[in-house]
Amino acid sequence: MPASLQQLYCKEIFRKGCSLKLLIPREGSPGERRVAATPETVRRLIAKGLTFTVESGAGLAAGFADADYGGAGADLCDAGAAPWGEVDGVLCVQPPATAALAGLRPGALLVGLLAPYGATELVAALQQRQASAIALELLPRISRAQAMDVLSSQANVAGYKAVLLAAAALDRYVPMLMTAAGTIQPARVLVLGAGVAGLQALATARRLGGVVYVSDVRPAAKEQVESLGGRFIAPPALEDQPGEAGGYAREASEAFLQAQRQQLAEQLALADMVICTAQVPGRPAPRLIDEAMLDGMRPGAVVVDLAVAQGGNCFGTVAGRTVERQGVRLIGADALPSSVPNHASALYARNVAALIEHLLDPEQPGSLRLDPEDPILAGCLLTQEGICRREDVVFPAGSGGGSEGGESRQLAEVAR
Ligand code: NAD
Repeated sequence: MPASLQQLYCKEIFRKGCSLKLLIPREGSPGERRVAATPETVRRLIAKGLTFTVESGAGLAAGFADADYGGAGADLCDAGAAPWGEVDGVLCVQPPATAALAGLRPGALLVGLLAPYGATELVAALQQRQASAIALELLPRISRAQAMDVLSSQANVAGYKAVLLAAAALDRYVPMLMTAAGTIQPARVLVLGAGVAGLQALATARRLGGVVYVSDVRPAAKEQVESLGGRFIAPPALEDQPGEAGGYAREASEAFLQAQRQQLAEQLALADMVICTAQVPGRPAPRLIDEAMLDGMRPGAVVVDLAVAQGGNCFGTVAGRTVERQGVRLIGADALPSSVPNHASALYARNVAALIEHLLDPEQPGSLRLDPEDPILAGCLLTQEGICRREDVVFPAGSGGGSEGGESRQLAEVAR
């Protein structure tokens, strides 16, 4: 890109003479207990020249009191009176309500897990306020961005908690026990998907003493599974392997999934706990357990489906609910990070602080620089001053909502 155009693209967010002001609002989504900044990260960013306003009670459900934010140097505002129109940026966990976004100061920045896939309403609200937004789901999974990788930190929490939920619901011990009344065999655990959540589920189940089998379609997963003491179930040896792109699995064909289900049916019949984590970004989760496979499971076994919000790996799981089916408990676990709110927030807040530090403008202390050419920002900058930069994600092919020649239109608008 010519240097002059790049300059047009690079936007700074700052106010003359004063440092950037960030808001930490109370999360409005039902059941959300996490918070986007902790007293630790507030202190860390204030030391870099930023200022904070924290809405009273924002951190309470995660174990962080107002007084601790005050002690870290933040201003506090009353609950329900957050000054959305007076701040330069808002750090959140879930996407804020449209009504709150309507109060944003023009040109402000929003950072959070913004559920960007098909998020036409959110983008329309951001466009109205000419706001910039960073969707943390879209952060590239590259080494340089590891400290900012919210998906990893939260998936780690989910994988851990899924095993605890399964163990608590199971009608058996997990470890092998040798007692005066005889020997108890260890629980057999099946983990579907060996991404971040699946590997943490494997590690947690191993710590509890289970024997763990793991299925994934990415060949690289085998070594990772075995290094954690798991037994790898290789994908069916078909020609149309889903393969991977950018470290993620591609969507499998129905024929491949059919072969995979046949292969997994045998494992499922032997399993006590099944932890489902298989996903393909931006696509429905692969259906790996069907009705007939559930029929083959032993009563008392437990399935925890972390992919339930994307349609589920398992037939019959319902988000946020436990369904009992012929003695098998199906747990639709859609919000596990929020159920470990203190540590999930601590990690999320550190990820966000690392991103904000990355965006600090070295030439303008206390201000941020949004350079869409930056390899970390390029993928996750959802809007820039109201212009949608990820039409491919917001208006996926066939949705009819995108515009033709988005890039050139954006250039024209930026240049105007
Ligand atoms: P994810 O949540 O998108 O998917 C979870 C797992 O499901 C993946 O391992 C995927 O291969 C698997 N899967 C998809 N379809 C399947 C099927 N039909 N059967 C069985 N398994 C299936 O993945 P994630 O946890 O976000 O991690 C994705 C990749 O990114 C991994 O390779 C991970 O190591 C990598 N990663 C890299 C970094 C980094 O370099 N900074 C950080 C985190 C993750």
